[in-house]
Amino acid sequence: MNPRDPALDGELDAPRSTQSLPSQAHGPGGRIEVVCGSMFSGKTEELIRRVKRALYGRQKVQAFKPRIDDRYDPTQIVSHGAIAIEAVPVANSESLMRRVEDGTQVVAIDEAQFFDRGIVEVCNELANQGRRVILAGLDQDYLGRPFPPMPDLMAIAEEVTKVRAVCTVCGGAASRSQRIIHEGSTVLVGGSDCYEARCRTCFRPREVRAGES
Ligand code: ADP
Ligand code: MG
Ligand code: ZN
Repeated sequence: MNPRDPALDGELDAPRSTQSLPSQAHGPGGRIEVVCGSMFSGKTEELIRRVKRALYGRQKVQAFKPRIDDRYDPTQIVSHGAIAIEAVPVANSESLMRRVEDGTQVVAIDEAQFFDRGIVEVCNELANQGRRVILAGLDQDYLGRPFPPMPDLMAIAEEVTKVRAVCTVCGGAASRSQRIIHEGSTVLVGGSDCYEARCRTCFRPREVRAGES
């Protein structure tokens, strides 16, 4: 067995927390913010609002969206109210991580529920590097079930904001996305042609409109 190098003593004996400290390359303000709710609840609008404020503050921002969501524009994040910002479409969490540039202080991600589970570790890593990560996504699927990986992202976030739409049946605050066409897959990308915002009382999982298939 080799004798222990005395020069390494300090490092070897250092407490774990100081050995594994992240680089904090972007300052100490790293954090994760999640904006979640049903469809039409204003998640994308809120994400865009936060991005615009960061830009006013001269922060370097990069916005991403999953390639699966090309409802309006493949290179923009567009709200149902038609406000938009530029965004890079990425196939998965690994591709997103590779595209984050040095010096980027704010990473915005829309439709986070369409990412693979790896997005959880990617967001943790980006925040550990001192970056502000803002995610918007559906907290529930069309049957009202937690929509992975949103629950895990909400758990590790510093801040979670739930936003609500207006229920199209009773006008109350809506927390659910009612699928109004007959389609059984969890992922069905669409707008008001496929979904309605509903409150807990008016939400009818699996209900389809008469005459539609
Ligand atoms: P999300 O990203 O949560 O799906 P958006 O931010 O894209 O929502 O869009 C929110 C906008 O959708 C609202 O400002 C409003 O103009 C429009 N909208 C359409 N239907 C509804 C509804 N039922 N409740 C609230 N807003 C609605
Ligand atoms: Mg949206
Ligand atoms: Zn209702």
